[in-house]
Amino acid sequence: MSLDLDPDARKDMADAAARDGGARKVFIKSFGCQMNVYDAARMADVLAPEGFDETTRVEDADLVILNTCHIRERAAEKVFSELGKLRELKQERAAAGRDTRIAVAGCVAQAEGAEILRRQKAVGLVVGPQNYHRLPDLLRRAETGRGVVDTEFPVEDKFDHIAPARPERTRARGISAFLTIQEGCDKFCTFCVVPYTRGAETSRPAARIIREAEILAEAGVRELTLLGQNVNAWAGVGEDGAVWSLARLARRLAQIPGVLRIRYTTSHPNDMGADLIAAHRADPALMPFLHLPVQSGSDRILAAMNRKHDAAAYVDLVARIRAARPDIALSSDFIVGFPGETERDFEDTLDLIRTIGFASAFSFKYSPRPGTPGADMADQVAEPIKAERLARLQVLLEAQRQDFNRATIGRTFDVLFEKKGRHPGQIAGKSPWLQAVQVDGPEALIGAARLVEITAVGPNSLFGRLLDPHGEARA
Ligand code: SF4
Repeated sequence: MSLDLDPDARKDMADAAARDGGARKVFIKSFGCQMNVYDAARMADVLAPEGFDETTRVEDADLVILNTCHIRERAAEKVFSELGKLRELKQERAAAGRDTRIAVAGCVAQAEGAEILRRQKAVGLVVGPQNYHRLPDLLRRAETGRGVVDTEFPVEDKFDHIAPARPERTRARGISAFLTIQEGCDKFCTFCVVPYTRGAETSRPAARIIREAEILAEAGVRELTLLGQNVNAWAGVGEDGAVWSLARLARRLAQIPGVLRIRYTTSHPNDMGADLIAAHRADPALMPFLHLPVQSGSDRILAAMNRKHDAAAYVDLVARIRAARPDIALSSDFIVGFPGETERDFEDTLDLIRTIGFASAFSFKYSPRPGTPGADMADQVAEPIKAERLARLQVLLEAQRQDFNRATIGRTFDVLFEKKGRHPGQIAGKSPWLQAVQVDGPEALIGAARLVEITAVGPNSLFGRLLDPHGEARA
């Protein structure tokens, strides 16, 4: 999806009203994390009863929603730049007799609020991530022409107001689907905006999660990725009236017919309970791949980040997880150049990476987020130092990623096929460790898991051969 207008589409715009027969269209562009991708789908669900069909052509949209992310550097400026393009589109559509409403949602909406209306008059609605269930009502209020801002953290839980996804709207969502089960965070890491933009930790009720998972499975989804900013803090009353943890919920979801694989992200090390570790031992549907951010290997920096654990605790935790599930692979986030980070602190991070061995990782230079404690800390690290450390860190992480991928050559494991491959006759899927895998095979296997022997490894994919193309679908 792009906001850059196709010149032909511009020319056609005047005819669009007749072609669409008056149906209203919504274009939603999501930035950032998987939760925003999920939220965008649910916004479309909320708007469907209002007569909005989703479109992938921004030129056709009567309503454009930018679902924003505040994690990256200069996030707000990038949103204002996108809004400038949308204002031009709004003017062009107006000249063709078509109205266009522009809404800003997500974490930049939460952080900037009314400032967005002040700086970009084309915007009619600003809605925070906790409030998108109110979109129909907010859009009606915005019809008066006065800009509407809703960035309150409502007393009512948004999850109570959003019906489970409907089968007819989930069918196009593929073999692997996100399912938000938890939102917000109480940890207050000093670099992070999430506690301010997504609010306190809330867990979605178990019954609603199970229902939505059943609907997704009925629609052909075979892999569920449970989402939450602090997903392993999820807790809720289960079907038996007892308080369930994520471990219990995941094992219940794995019993749903059709569900082959369960993943969850993002986890905080301090919330990796013994029962969740044990679930990895007991339930093969829990995939042996865990995104478990550590951020730094220096105890001094971890304390300054308010991570509430030290490097030794992380190493010990990984040892316990590996004892339960020896083939588990780890992924992590790293921030280099946090305020006060010395060369020694950075070396501690490299040491921790060598000790653990990561299959993949996301790594960033620290950049201050307005309103977070880290932004006001003394001893900000100079940009060239951050850049040099990040480059060294990424060399090590990339070598580990490649080693991990190469170690799969000659191994045999299940691949869940999701789509056609790059070339005719190929199908593509994912290994248990989230690696992309390509094989020669029939499209009929899309949606099934099959044994594959890995024969070669490319920069970003594994290649293999099907061992039992005609075998029973695993379920
Ligand atoms: S645990 Fe994650 S989401 Fe929560 S404050 Fe820390 S980095 Fe942000």
